[in-house]
Amino acid sequence: MMSATESGPSTLLLAQPRGFCAGVTRAIEIVERALQIYGAPVYVFHEIVHNGHVVEELRARGAVFVDTLELVPPGATTVFSAHGVASAVQRQAQAQHLNVIDATCPLVAKVHSHAQRYARMGYHIVLIGHEGHDEVVATVGQVDVPVHVVATVAEVAALPFAADDQVAYVTQTTLSVDDTRQVIASLQQRYRQLVGPDVDDICYATQNRQQALRGLAKDTQLVLVVGASNSSNSQRLREVALQQGMPAHLVQDETGIDPAWLLGVQRVGVTAGASTPERLVQQVAQRLRALGTQAVYEVPGPEEHVVFRLPLAVLRRAA
Ligand code: SF4
Repeated sequence: MMSATESGPSTLLLAQPRGFCAGVTRAIEIVERALQIYGAPVYVFHEIVHNGHVVEELRARGAVFVDTLELVPPGATTVFSAHGVASAVQRQAQAQHLNVIDATCPLVAKVHSHAQRYARMGYHIVLIGHEGHDEVVATVGQVDVPVHVVATVAEVAALPFAADDQVAYVTQTTLSVDDTRQVIASLQQRYRQLVGPDVDDICYATQNRQQALRGLAKDTQLVLVVGASNSSNSQRLREVALQQGMPAHLVQDETGIDPAWLLGVQRVGVTAGASTPERLVQQVAQRLRALGTQAVYEVPGPEEHVVFRLPLAVLRRAA
């Protein structure tokens, strides 16, 4: 066992911004207000955001998380998660007369409308994203024509369209900006008439957290990303650090830190995915202090002032 004061990093650099984005804050507030207004249980389709701590806290207050609407009784109050849902799920909810409150992030909804518009214009649709992620499943299910999901340049090469076909792309909101640029470049090389949003579908929060981490990583010897393993933007943050040549680990909370990672490290950088509560970052900082860290600095990055309006259904007062 290493001696904390001898071997822990002396300096902790905290990335700014980090943690909750406007879409996550809104989604959690929707569930909290729905519990107040309509009473427990409030059903939530999928994890409201990809963080086990958030899910457990809401579960303890009466939220019931389901992966199929078949488990929801007719008429029950049901929240759709920040990642959005397929239109088939919306139709099923209607058929079951559910009291739906939609917590889909407005920036995810914007991607849905871009894809739907391209489909109406007759384009083949390519979605740059990770197959199986809740947001990707939802976006694919919002479009009435086949959507081809690609994550890599190699997958672009395997697309079945001819060079002069009309092809449009949209992207998942939580991708690596740099990796996505490469995939877009390979689409542009293959399809002369390609249209799409460049990297603008990658949301402001994802871009800002990556930019902040890039600025900080060069001054550290190790990066810890606080976030869940199923959180796409947390995974991308870890990759951004690795691409900068920094060893980087994703930890769900302070218990995930292996002291062996800290041996010989003087400066450690910490950031957090958009679905990670600040409380978990502070617990990580506390653990690092217990392991010998003496100085903690916030490293300023891009400023954020984004706030999303709540749906009307949760704006009325709790009884
Ligand atoms: Fe919305 Fe971006 Fe937050 Fe996802 S990460 S909920 S797209 S703001």
